[in-house]
Amino acid sequence: MNFEITRDYIDVGNSRPGVNLGDVEFIVSHDTGNPGSTAYANRNYFQNTQPLASAHTFIDDQYILEIIPLSEVAYHVRSNVPEDNRRFGVDANDAAIGVELAYGGNIDFSGAYKRYVWYHAYLLDKYGLDPSTDIVAHSTLDPSRRTDPQNALEPNGISWDEFINDVKQEYLREFQGEAGDGTEVGGEAVDLPIGMGDEGSFVREIQQNLMRAGVSLPNYGADGIFGEETERAVMRFQRSYGLAVDGLVGPNTLEQLNQVLNGGSNLNDFPLPSGIFQQGDEGPEVKQIQRALRHVNFDPKGIDGIYGPNTEDAVRRFQSMYSALANDGIYGPNTRRYLNMELDS
Ligand SMILES: [Zn+2]
Repeated sequence: MNFEITRDYIDVGNSRPGVNLGDVEFIVSHDTGNPGSTAYANRNYFQNTQPLASAHTFIDDQYILEIIPLSEVAYHVRSNVPEDNRRFGVDANDAAIGVELAYGGNIDFSGAYKRYVWYHAYLLDKYGLDPSTDIVAHSTLDPSRRTDPQNALEPNGISWDEFINDVKQEYLREFQGEAGDGTEVGGEAVDLPIGMGDEGSFVREIQQNLMRAGVSLPNYGADGIFGEETERAVMRFQRSYGLAVDGLVGPNTLEQLNQVLNGGSNLNDFPLPSGIFQQGDEGPEVKQIQRALRHVNFDPKGIDGIYGPNTEDAVRRFQSMYSALANDGIYGPNTRRYLNMELDS
């Protein structure tokens, strides 16, 4: 996915000193600290008020808006903080692009976040920067006064490390011609993350996979449209597996989904069911038993939540390994205990 960059520069004044920026050596990531204030609202403020502080680019769910040319200085980090000099040997205002995330109010977080991630990747490419070292949070440079951009990211379930990882993925995918992990959905190359408002066969594929993973979509099913129901389903799935709960299908969520469908899920998240299960039973508990049974050569492709002959056979094979277990193909408390020991080993 490519996003458009809007260049609508403010006049030269306090906020835009009109001084040439030297070589760009890093990016400083900010949020506006002003929930609900859009990219253009920020532009208007800097244009009209001309405070002695600014940033190059403001991003919301509609615009990637450059208000100061990237070839010029913007004052987005206090010059007397030491961390920029320690890391890069230079003041941020003399060698960094400042990027601000607008958030809150009516700004759709996922739309703004996608653009924010993409734009960081774009800058990495433009200036030949290293995603692992050359993006720094304003809070890292000025920890006594600033909490951005984590202030905007973390309430939406995204840590700084996840953000950097998302930028790396985007950079590799969009600017380095390498597909990152999990960028093929249903045999189709797609741009991650996939979220609210996306449509198409890849959305349908994700919806089908969510349902196969036991997350229901009761009203709309696999309709190929990523709406609120799908978002809630993704969030439920993410919560179940200890992922960042953002309702977006990014590399981590996609990988977890594939793992669940291939039977490689983390069983600690879903303990083996108590009770008795046998041929004819169905449901998520059976699926969990089947997942555990892959350790005794149960084919992961057979994980379907239906206790049929193959499942019974796998249970029987497992039981036959232990003289203490009845060899009856029925899952009960004793089989559960031995399966759990098997899983712990
Ligand atoms: Zn900042």
